[in-house]
Amino acid sequence: MENQYYQKAIETMSREDMESLQSERLVKQVKHVWDNVPYYRHLMEEKGVSPEDIKGIEDLHKLPFLTKDDLRDQYPYGLLATDLDNCVRIQSTSGTTGRRVVAFYTQKDVDLWEECCARALTAVGAGKGDVCHVSYGYGLFTGGPGLNGGSHKVGCLTLPMSSGNTERQLQFMMDLGSTILCCTPSYAAYLGESLKEAGYKPEDNTLKAGIFGAEPWTEEMRRDIEKSLGIKAYDIYGLTETSGPGVSFECQAQSGMHINEDHFIAEIIDPDTGEVLPLGSKGELVFTSITKEAFPLIRYRTRDITVLSREKCSCGRTLVKMRKPMGRSDDMLIIRGVNVFPSQIETVLLKEGYAPHYQIVVDRENNSDTLDVYVEMNPESFSDVVKDIEEDATKLASAMKTMLGIKPKVHLVAPKTIERSEGKAVRVIDKRKLHD
Ligand code: ADP
Ligand code: ZN
Repeated sequence: MENQYYQKAIETMSREDMESLQSERLVKQVKHVWDNVPYYRHLMEEKGVSPEDIKGIEDLHKLPFLTKDDLRDQYPYGLLATDLDNCVRIQSTSGTTGRRVVAFYTQKDVDLWEECCARALTAVGAGKGDVCHVSYGYGLFTGGPGLNGGSHKVGCLTLPMSSGNTERQLQFMMDLGSTILCCTPSYAAYLGESLKEAGYKPEDNTLKAGIFGAEPWTEEMRRDIEKSLGIKAYDIYGLTETSGPGVSFECQAQSGMHINEDHFIAEIIDPDTGEVLPLGSKGELVFTSITKEAFPLIRYRTRDITVLSREKCSCGRTLVKMRKPMGRSDDMLIIRGVNVFPSQIETVLLKEGYAPHYQIVVDRENNSDTLDVYVEMNPESFSDVVKDIEEDATKLASAMKTMLGIKPKVHLVAPKTIERSEGKAVRVIDKRKLHD
């Protein structure tokens, strides 16, 4: 397929032009928050910086960081940078990791956010003539509204399904000829499984591409979804604090997500020291939103761990790319001193031929951490011979030990007994927290 852009001039802009655009916008944005948000002024004064010190992106590092705790602390209006009268929308985080955060939008903020989603849709080949099936949740969650707006902008016929009611999802998908699917990867996997159960083969549906994000997922999961739905699966990233999905998006190259740098400046820092790391280092992603009016964030620490790359992309976009985040620094489990990301467990079980429905339970027994992984047996190789099940479980546990460095206890359970996710999947139950 030919490369397509939604806003070619921006998406393929030279580095020099992009940096001067970012500098100009950053200077303006810093002045905007200094003038309108007492909390920012306070943080900047504490660090001894004033707007005059910020002349361009080379001065970004002088500014203080902002954390999710600041946002919670300033809930609900403390970081609002414009009159509430100018705002037309409120969205909220899913609350995956604690108290929710609310974000505000002016009409211009909504338009720019939807443009970012339009870029993502165009990059996967969506446009006029497509039926865009949006199964992200609608409401306070940004997934549904964001992709819905982007879909309108590129001229797709939009199907605002929202999440849930899987039977109706399948019926509309088949009857109305959905061609683009937008939802969480865990829900895409579930839709693929449900289509199969309903007797459809992957080639029976009219879908051609899917845009899946809002939670971490692995390359193995991508292949699984591509196979079960007969489509190309693309990643999209975003967070409510910086608008929603569309902060970055994947192109045809399927090798990382281009960040919409005309709106968001990305940095990678060492999560422990706050030091800015050179390009190519793994660390915590930090964003500064340089066009937002109502809820601009300066040096916001996302806690997402990733790597940035400026390698030339075959799609022709010059926007910096971020690697698929492995998960948030706070998703990382420390089990008997070993760092474990749930995505590593996902990689192993898909490689070993299991379905992407699993649950991880961490607990503490006699002062020692325990790791239990519940995985479904495949319907095809389903066995009720205890010896067979035990052998399979031991094999899977050994494969996990090779990847993780510690051996979990694997429980193979009957197919369809692990709860399916319609939005963001809850993969981990950490019971240790209950004891603390
Ligand atoms: P919450 O923080 O309550 O989950 P959000 O709905 O705003 O609220 O979720 C944003 C977070 O979701 C991001 O910070 C990131 O951790 C995760 N996320 C979003 N898109 C992706 C993606 N494509 N890959 C991995 N993680 C993602
Ligand atoms: Zn590209």
